[in-house]
Amino acid sequence: MRKFKPYLPPVCCLLIFEAVAVTLWLTKHNLFYLFNFTYIGCSLSLGLFLFIKKHRHARRVAQLLVGSYMLVYLGLICRENMQIEGFWYYLFTGVFEAATIHYAVAKIFGPLLFGRGWCGYACWTAMVLDFLPYRVPAQPRKKLGWLRYVTFAASLIFVGALFFAKVGSIERIMFWAFLVGNVLYYAVGVALAFWFKDNRAFCKYICPITVFLKPMSYFSLVRIRCDKSKCVSCGKCQKVCPMEVDVTDNSRKRKNGTECILCMECVKNCPKDAL
Ligand code: SF4
Ligand code: SF4
Ligand code: SF4
Repeated sequence: MRKFKPYLPPVCCLLIFEAVAVTLWLTKHNLFYLFNFTYIGCSLSLGLFLFIKKHRHARRVAQLLVGSYMLVYLGLICRENMQIEGFWYYLFTGVFEAATIHYAVAKIFGPLLFGRGWCGYACWTAMVLDFLPYRVPAQPRKKLGWLRYVTFAASLIFVGALFFAKVGSIERIMFWAFLVGNVLYYAVGVALAFWFKDNRAFCKYICPITVFLKPMSYFSLVRIRCDKSKCVSCGKCQKVCPMEVDVTDNSRKRKNGTECILCMECVKNCPKDAL
């Protein structure tokens, strides 16, 4: 039995997603939910399994499997706007489908359980940004976090204006908004990464979804903790952290604590297994 204990996280992850998959399939009478959440659960569990097996690219495998599925299958093939504009759109129409379920699970209530796991293992924007050369920021953090509120408000005003003006064929506009929005996100994300020498600059300053993610992940159940009795204050964990989190501080108020994307780089690099 002890032999199987390390594999509990991937099994639990799969079971949680399967429970969501079956519940939504039966309550919404739509087989898509069974397929969707089973696929995502399997991809994340595979990532966790590879991490346990100490595979170097475990997180990236999960991130690429989930991120490309969301972008290509749900976004481009099924024409679902899974960006924040799609969330506002479904919210205004009062439909609890696709983007609203996605936001509720991954970005609003889910973070109470798994923090910013979405940002580390599933986001299709970061999936591309993580290929860039600045995995760890090479410049000090800028005071530009307020920009996220501007992009958040802009997305809300954009969709609100479409409804207010009673514009026809909103579905088609939302699909184009998804395409244009993604191109913009990638362009700005890549430009900022090179400008600030930080792959995750877009996440830190621009991404509107962090307006949901940050406060909710403050209460996250799953978080990296430091065993102070083992820590020798070598600082290695902070040197490898892409989000500049002070992971040696166990309080919820730790520096950049709501930005931890659970990438496990600190855990992998701690010489004393203190994390
Ligand atoms: S902060 Fe935004 S862009 Fe960055 S990983 Fe999270 S959701 Fe994606
Ligand atoms: S890498 Fe490990 S030992 Fe070093 S400061 Fe971080 S937690 Fe402590
Ligand atoms: S390196 Fe550690 S503290 Fe930093 S984001 Fe990754 S898991 Fe969180």
